[in-house]
Amino acid sequence: MNAIPSATSRADVLSTLLQRLVIRFATTHACEGILFGSSTTKLAEVVLSETAKGRGFAIPWLISDGPTPFGISFYYPLRELLKKELSAFANMTDPMIAPLVHAEPLAKEQVISSMKNTTIDFLMKQYFESVEESYPSIVANAVRTAGKLQAPKAASTQRCKLCAMPVTEDLVGIHGWVGDQIEAVATEIEKGSYGLCYGCTRSVPEEAVTFLPD
Ligand SMILES: [Zn+2]
Repeated sequence: MNAIPSATSRADVLSTLLQRLVIRFATTHACEGILFGSSTTKLAEVVLSETAKGRGFAIPWLISDGPTPFGISFYYPLRELLKKELSAFANMTDPMIAPLVHAEPLAKEQVISSMKNTTIDFLMKQYFESVEESYPSIVANAVRTAGKLQAPKAASTQRCKLCAMPVTEDLVGIHGWVGDQIEAVATEIEKGSYGLCYGCTRSVPEEAVTFLPD
């Protein structure tokens, strides 16, 4: 983790590894699916932050109910509820379930020591927390629109070494990003020599590739 240069990349690698751990736990215990507690607000954050981090191709698998390339289905039973609705509900039940909820300060109330320590995930969280207050339909729209995206059709046996998403040749390294990048000056990791997708190429420095789990 120390070799990872930015706060955004560290947060990205940590959440990716956490997701892989959850999947590994579920598959080794022969679970049929994984229920995630993500609200509409959380899913909207995922849509925009994964896009910004260069992993847009994986969005259909990260926010939709049903089969995933990991051999286990994902379900989001709270997908129609906003974060503020869930917080309100937790305080209305009798007995109250709020004390059982892991208290996390609102992103807008957190003081960040410097912009350098701000992550894309955090910015998205802050953004959608403020949007859901006055314009909840925007939050729901982001998720609904992204929900219409279709997963890449071509089945690939190659997996990205970090996020474990199936990647075809054109999704590996800088080929996964159709912008203006020059192959001649690309590092080995950017050329796709390590089999990382474009987003993960941006998060993991070359010297840390050997530490990635199988
Ligand atoms: Zn990846």
